[in-house]
Amino acid sequence: MQVPFLDLKIQYKSIKNEIDPAIQNILDNTAFVLGKAVSDFETEFAHEHAVKHCLGVSSGTDGNHLALWALGVKAGDEVIVPANTFIATAWGATLCGATPVFVDCEPGSYNIDPNKVEAAITKKTKAIVAVHLYGQPADLDPLKEIAAKHKILLVEDCAQSHFAEYKGRRVGGLSDAASFSFYPGKNLGAYGEGGAVTTNNDEVAKIVKMLRDHGAVQKYNHEILGHNYRMEGIQGAVLGVKLKHLNKWTNGRRNVAQKYNELLKKTDAITLPKEMSYAKHVYHLFVIKVNNGGSQKRDELAQYLNSKGISTGLHYPIPLHLQPCFRNLGYKKGQFPVTESLAETGISLPMYPEITDEQIGYVCESINQFFAK
Ligand SMILES: *Cc1c(COP(=O)(O)O)cnc(C)c1O
Repeated sequence: MQVPFLDLKIQYKSIKNEIDPAIQNILDNTAFVLGKAVSDFETEFAHEHAVKHCLGVSSGTDGNHLALWALGVKAGDEVIVPANTFIATAWGATLCGATPVFVDCEPGSYNIDPNKVEAAITKKTKAIVAVHLYGQPADLDPLKEIAAKHKILLVEDCAQSHFAEYKGRRVGGLSDAASFSFYPGKNLGAYGEGGAVTTNNDEVAKIVKMLRDHGAVQKYNHEILGHNYRMEGIQGAVLGVKLKHLNKWTNGRRNVAQKYNELLKKTDAITLPKEMSYAKHVYHLFVIKVNNGGSQKRDELAQYLNSKGISTGLHYPIPLHLQPCFRNLGYKKGQFPVTESLAETGISLPMYPEITDEQIGYVCESINQFFAK
């Protein structure tokens, strides 16, 4: 049996009869950049996340940049970022000319550890970026308290957490501004690059709208410095169709997670993901940890599964503070033990709503076989 890590073809086939005409409509109207399909999607996406504004942009990375840029982050500032995340979270800060300051994650959720944030705050700190990694919200309340106490901003990176909930409320409207990614493999994926910035702040929304479109309020009237971070019409059309299915797909992911948990709970060789009491996890990724034998055992497991036709992933093998591009920041191995242990022993299992019960059963059986050897 073959179990790919992700299979986007099954999903496309299931909605082809809606997607194809939506794309054809863009071709017929030649509304290739922004336009009605994008603004309709923005309205729906904002509504779904109970947030006042949504601006469609060119990628999640550009959304990370825009959120901080619109909030006034600039050269000389510091931005607190979890060490355990995808590199693009840190690009939000660096593209503003600011310096990312890394903080370890907590062992339960693998998200930024609120207890370790205050020690990283200096006079230069302008913002904290909370990433809802793997689809599970970060613990926002203590982070909000810290941000208020130090008069700094709180921003959410929701690239992996569409429709995830923190204490019963969807993420994306729970901070000063948030960014989403619609990279094809994300829980809500475009058919190309795409992203969004969401906020409840009218002024921030107005600035993001200008920044994404050359700093213009009207065409050829450039009020401020900007960039071209606009969403394409075809992506807006695809996302508008797919958004209507997202509840079903999110439930599908949660069902897959439940089945993995059920079939793997007996082995004490691994640590399963933990859904925190405050969180509704949307399982962008299903990351388990190998308890004994370190990275060597983890790599052996990946190889074994691969030999059985099962693809797995590593999220993320090199923590941000140990990335060569941040060498100049002077971090050392050993500084963020929780993040480093996850990098060495974490492994992501195949996860998508369309994976079959047979495939899930086969993955779990193979894992159990590996540890029984
Ligand atoms: C995917 C991702 C991004 C970047 O999104 P792109 O659309 O690929 O630019 C940012 N942050 C996190 C946590 C991500 O997973």
